[in-house]
Amino acid sequence: MNNKQTSQVTRRQFLTCASLGAAGLWLAPRDLFGQDGNLVTVSRDQGASAKIAVQKLRGGVSVLSGSGGNIAVLSGADGKILVDAGLTKSRRGIAEALAGIDADPVRHLINTHWHFDHTDGNEWFNSAGARIIAQENTRKHLSTATRVEAWHFTFPPSPTGALPTEVFKQDLTLHLNGTTLALRYYGPAHTDSDISVEFTDAEILHTGDTWWNGHFPFIDYSTGGSIDGAIRAAEANIARVTDKTLIIPGHGPVGDKSGLIEFRDMLVTIRGKVAALKKQGKSLDETVAAAPTADYEAKWGGFFINGKTFTALVYAGV
Ligand SMILES: [Zn+2]
Repeated sequence: MNNKQTSQVTRRQFLTCASLGAAGLWLAPRDLFGQDGNLVTVSRDQGASAKIAVQKLRGGVSVLSGSGGNIAVLSGADGKILVDAGLTKSRRGIAEALAGIDADPVRHLINTHWHFDHTDGNEWFNSAGARIIAQENTRKHLSTATRVEAWHFTFPPSPTGALPTEVFKQDLTLHLNGTTLALRYYGPAHTDSDISVEFTDAEILHTGDTWWNGHFPFIDYSTGGSIDGAIRAAEANIARVTDKTLIIPGHGPVGDKSGLIEFRDMLVTIRGKVAALKKQGKSLDETVAAAPTADYEAKWGGFFINGKTFTALVYAGV
């Protein structure tokens, strides 16, 4: 495999996504990308021009998309509750979108995990009066310098105002705005800090980055993620929903149970193919050359993770 060619292809995909206003987030394992760019920084800068789309679901829950991960919003007498916070430079666009829903202030912010495209907005929401709730590993990673090798980026400790104000280990139930929110820890999955947030009355589940709807997912081995953890989380999501549940992925459009099943099946199939090749003694380059993702590339490879990158992410964990 030609590493230079791969990085050029991936960069072109990135720029295409960027020009469409997609959430800027480029991802690749170290051996597929050189040191010639830092797309965490680029992604953050692109937040300034992100166009925020608002989709109303049901039960007072809406989704804001366009800046980092999908943001869920529940309005009501206790103020708005947000699931994930977008990119800091999208503050104006996100604030306008929230004001377009109603005038209630944001009182609670839940982080699905520690990644920047879900937590960069923490500081400004907190400064505006929101409590921040997360699994304890989210606060751990935000509190200290944390490197993500695949992004070639070391995140410095976050300022105090950006840290979760309340953390939990396994499960947390919130009764707010006349309804119940169930927060559940997945165990190590996409990272070691992932939680789901279920709006139980509305039958809406936010999966964080345990589901990228229609895209190969990133897996952050630097902070406890793995392909097997990602598959366990995909199974947990399927077990948790019904045919009526609306499901908000970390990235991609709102979907349903059939989409979760298709995603789980894709993960399991590719894991099996990559594991078999690795067991035969094939190197990463040889495994990528065998194209274990070929049947899936057209449908799943058009976002930030192409088939080669996803193959490398799976190879690292089998
Ligand atoms: Zn993530």
